[in-house]
Amino acid sequence: MAIKFASRMKGLKGSEIRELLKLTEKPEVISFAGGLPAPELFPIEEMKKISTLVLEEDGASALQYSTTEGFEPLREHIADRMNSKSKTNITKDDILVTNGSQQGLDFAGKVFLDEGDVVLCESPSYLGALNAFKAYLPKFIEVPTDNNGMIMEELEKILSTTERIKMIYVIPDFQNPTGRTWPLERRKKFIELIEKYEIPVIEDNPYGELRFEGDNLPSLKSMDKKGLVIYLGTFSKIFCPGYRLGWTCASPAILQKFVFVKQGSDLQASTISQREVSKFMDIYDLDEHVEKIKSVYRVRRDLMLQTMKETFPEGLEYTYPEGGLFTWVELPSHLDAKEIMAKCLENDVAYVPGASFFPNGGKTNHFRLNYSNMPDDKIVEGIKRLGAVLKEFMVE
Ligand code: PMP
Repeated sequence: MAIKFASRMKGLKGSEIRELLKLTEKPEVISFAGGLPAPELFPIEEMKKISTLVLEEDGASALQYSTTEGFEPLREHIADRMNSKSKTNITKDDILVTNGSQQGLDFAGKVFLDEGDVVLCESPSYLGALNAFKAYLPKFIEVPTDNNGMIMEELEKILSTTERIKMIYVIPDFQNPTGRTWPLERRKKFIELIEKYEIPVIEDNPYGELRFEGDNLPSLKSMDKKGLVIYLGTFSKIFCPGYRLGWTCASPAILQKFVFVKQGSDLQASTISQREVSKFMDIYDLDEHVEKIKSVYRVRRDLMLQTMKETFPEGLEYTYPEGGLFTWVELPSHLDAKEIMAKCLENDVAYVPGASFFPNGGKTNHFRLNYSNMPDDKIVEGIKRLGAVLKEFMVE
């Protein structure tokens, strides 16, 4: 019997990264492939206390259904934090709590995309977002980037010559996969352009708070006067991903559509998760916790980049991230990062080949390295192993 699936299933396949992660699960593999936070920083003892407290104080409500928009005190915490990081006047009414920011990406596709519509994104861009959008059968146009993110002249060319652009998806802070950040001038120009063309923007910002050095930059959301920017935030990288809590912040007419699709998707985010994370923020200082995370990741970034400098062969380019979780390596154009990865696995070290971050394909000479998840000694050892493999390929 031939089962007939919806046409939207044609282009969908499992994330290559998730498949790859299965191969890197062996304990002897030093993996720079995932984008996982450091588990030793999770506030386990604090959350043990908090979960008891939440159940003791109002267990019945914590275990009950609740509103689609989310737990009010948590939405207030989120709005306050957003206002303290960028100059915004966000209130809880501008916030919808989602199941991770990943759900916000899926909802963006559902809210904005008809088959054949055009999505603009950075080239390369976050695979999980591209896969989420793919279910809605869009075309992707990759906007060229340089070391400072999306190139505005290229964006303008595309905006002025392309029909059916329905949304622009961007990660301006410590991008996944490249670790790059857009400087202020580009943000200003970007806002000018989207206001001219009136295209909705998905600003995905899981890493912005993890800045190790340099000045904080304003979010696109804080610069948006026309209500075109839909901001996606998450607790995954500043707290922990296991609660699966993120949020969407958007102007009322847009947010309402997101609320409608959330009702159809899962009614609401977990009541007890929301109450526990909110209680953590009542009792503890989340900013202090973020500082702890940053101090560990900064050391790991330094170790990784220093060891790369010492052991990688000449002729490779890589980004110097001022925050976030990733650096991005460009190989000479004749080399294929996937082929090299096979050799790396024989040597018990892993990265993510970059090809799948380009929605229209064709670029095989990049890979992404994560530095947040491995302890210091393994970073040094793993990069040495990787450097040795790369040397073999570079001399061939
Ligand atoms: N956006 C980007 C750019 C990401 O890197 C990730 C996670 N790796 C997500 C969204 C989704 O994160 P979460 O659902 O845990 O909030």
